[in-house]
Amino acid sequence: MSRASLDIDLDAIAANWRALDGAGAPGCATGAVVKADAYGLGAERVARRLRENGVGHFFVALAEEGARLRVALGPEPEIFVFSGHMEGDGALLRQHRLVPLLNSAAQFERHLQALAGHSFGIQLDTGMNRLGMEPAEWQALRRRALAAGPVLIMSHLACADEPGHPMNRQQLAAFRELTAGIDVPRSLAATGGILLGPEYHFDLVRPGIGLYGGAPFASARPVVRLRLPVVQIRSLSPGESVGYGNSWRAERPARIATVAAGYADGLLRALSNRARLFAGDIACPLVGRVSMDLITAEVTHLADPPEALDILCPAQGIDALAEAAGTIGYEILTGLGSRYVRRYGGAR
Ligand SMILES: *Cc1c(COP(=O)(O)O)cnc(C)c1O
Repeated sequence: MSRASLDIDLDAIAANWRALDGAGAPGCATGAVVKADAYGLGAERVARRLRENGVGHFFVALAEEGARLRVALGPEPEIFVFSGHMEGDGALLRQHRLVPLLNSAAQFERHLQALAGHSFGIQLDTGMNRLGMEPAEWQALRRRALAAGPVLIMSHLACADEPGHPMNRQQLAAFRELTAGIDVPRSLAATGGILLGPEYHFDLVRPGIGLYGGAPFASARPVVRLRLPVVQIRSLSPGESVGYGNSWRAERPARIATVAAGYADGLLRALSNRARLFAGDIACPLVGRVSMDLITAEVTHLADPPEALDILCPAQGIDALAEAAGTIGYEILTGLGSRYVRRYGGAR
């Protein structure tokens, strides 16, 4: 079989959740962010496993993602939608009992009109300028919004992966000020915010990337292994080149393995001549350009011809691969395409 396989360790995701939960301030609940199909790993499988471990709050980006999740999880857990209440979302929000995190006065009015009495949360902008009500907008709306009974007030940190960044304290102060004297559960921290310490935790934390083994949660257990089957191995003479554009040339006799995945599978072309593949723990440099369906690696130094090479494994996690491509682990994970055979380990 030439399809590459993506092994997803649900036990490791559960262990990462427990570790982040353990880092939370006493009395603070820990949810799970499973937007974008649980960062590409399969929202239904991941969320069902976390639910078995007692997770009661899930977060998605879109109402449609929430609807699929509700079907997978049943009626009990809370499912929050970061994009709030968009035009046309009313039926999905109602039918699947999703909680929109309203991010503007316009969304608040839409929600009251379309779904009066249906649970909602409020999203405040504390300086990131991406989603959420601006302070002045919130001040004008605050009395009416609180009278309508929000179940959560949240904001999001822009620089939480840099613990020393002054923006963290600024946003913390802004969030405290905007929510002072309000008796509604509050949430500010994602993975990075959890690691900033208990001041940032409030009532509910919302980790995503840390569950999936990514930075800034440095002690996370790795979650994915990506094995690429070797399609062919060939011998090169000095001076011969490999791949499109002749971008790598053998300086001595070399053996090259061609493996079955490429940039159509989220293995970014920027990895060309930069990343490594692994035979067990032996590194094999990726040589030549990554093409749509194929990657080439030098295996001259291996004693036996490999049947497969790993590009994500304990020796090279999502952040190390991301570094080689000039990006972040989030983009590596969410970019992993649909051609892999996804195999779940640790399933119950
Ligand atoms: C994606 C997201 C999260 C999770 O962030 P991680 O850095 O993956 O932990 C939390 N809150 C909001 C608003 C988000 O958009």
